[in-house]
Amino acid sequence: MKVFLDSIGCRLNQSEIEKFAQQFRAAGHTLVASAAEADLVVVNTCTVTAKAASDSRQRVRQAARQTQGKIIITGCWATLEPEAALALPKVERVVANPEKDGLVASALGRPLELFDLEPLAREPLPGIHRRTRAFLKVQDGCDNHCTFCITRIARGKSRSRSIAEVLSDVRAAQAGGAQEIVLTGVQLGAWGQDFASPLRLHDLVKTILAESDVARLRLSSLEPWDLDERFFSLWADERLCRHLHLPLQSGSAATLRRMARKTTPRAFRALVEQARSAAPEMAITTDLIVGFPGEDESEFQESLEYVKSVQFAGGHVFSYSPRPGTPAERLPGQVAPGVIRQRNAQMRAVFEEEARRYASAFIGREVQVLWESAAQVGDGEWELHGLTDTYLHICARSDRALWNQFSRVKVEALEGDELTGRVVG
Ligand code: SF4
Repeated sequence: MKVFLDSIGCRLNQSEIEKFAQQFRAAGHTLVASAAEADLVVVNTCTVTAKAASDSRQRVRQAARQTQGKIIITGCWATLEPEAALALPKVERVVANPEKDGLVASALGRPLELFDLEPLAREPLPGIHRRTRAFLKVQDGCDNHCTFCITRIARGKSRSRSIAEVLSDVRAAQAGGAQEIVLTGVQLGAWGQDFASPLRLHDLVKTILAESDVARLRLSSLEPWDLDERFFSLWADERLCRHLHLPLQSGSAATLRRMARKTTPRAFRALVEQARSAAPEMAITTDLIVGFPGEDESEFQESLEYVKSVQFAGGHVFSYSPRPGTPAERLPGQVAPGVIRQRNAQMRAVFEEEARRYASAFIGREVQVLWESAAQVGDGEWELHGLTDTYLHICARSDRALWNQFSRVKVEALEGDELTGRVVG
């Protein structure tokens, strides 16, 4: 079946249709770029303003004129005005927001459980909903046994997609207009190690860079122990984004041992040094857990001081909470919630300071930005938001809507967590 997905409104609506897209694709259906080609049209509506509601109705009528197939409507407007939605031409069904997760399953008459196991990665949609970045899942599952983690239990052992499959997705994403590809996986760094003739992530990245002309390639989170010596030579190619997200989880060696993480503060520091010698301005970000069982004040202070010393470009702080079925749930020394909240605030303040320090170093310089959004703010004036390869958020004004294009920007200031600047080329 050929399916056309349309969306009005916010990013949430957009991300929902990307999930529908995945599910339709996973079930063997094809996404098309217009209602005219489709056997089924799904419209995700909006009602944030009267105009959005009217645009939603208009979009459905437009689709009805073009398609020979049927239409399903969902989203906020359809939820608030189901009778009006159902009365529109060729509308077969209205799916209210609370039932939205099961929309594709019910449209295809398949059990919802089948879809829960499908990849979470996003791929660009054909037609008007092309995105600047395409998230390609290249690996699933994990072979580690971190004691706090439920993901491994839920996802099973590491499985990798073949180079040929990934290359075909890269080409599809580029054909869909994606300028940046982000490789994702639960344990991305384990890619290829489950093959009969094992490969490493290095081999996959090298092949993608050699066999595609993708403008930017970004790697999502990588466990620090999964990177080998050869890995850092990849940054000889400037298309590989200078951004590494390396989850540390704690800066205390004792806490890391209880977490069963396969790294130490010393090994992590050596890795950071290697990364910085490969690309001196590499943005290194991390995840950190506070309040893990047995983390006393001295371990927490050790962790805090370590984080300061690494000079990350930013990080996410998670307050530990026991997940049923994990070994950490049964560890002694569970930390009181109030103490965890305090530690979270302290650690967060350190990361915010480090992020400001990293971003401020770019003030006065020219950087290359890929614009992720362009909103008209005046007569012939657009506000653009985008990202550098080092994952800095940049805002600038322009007389053109440069969405999904690259620009040179002269960085002028840091406002909140975003840099502002001027488009210079
Ligand atoms: S935290 Fe990451 S590396 Fe550790 S078990 Fe979970 S998914 Fe695997």
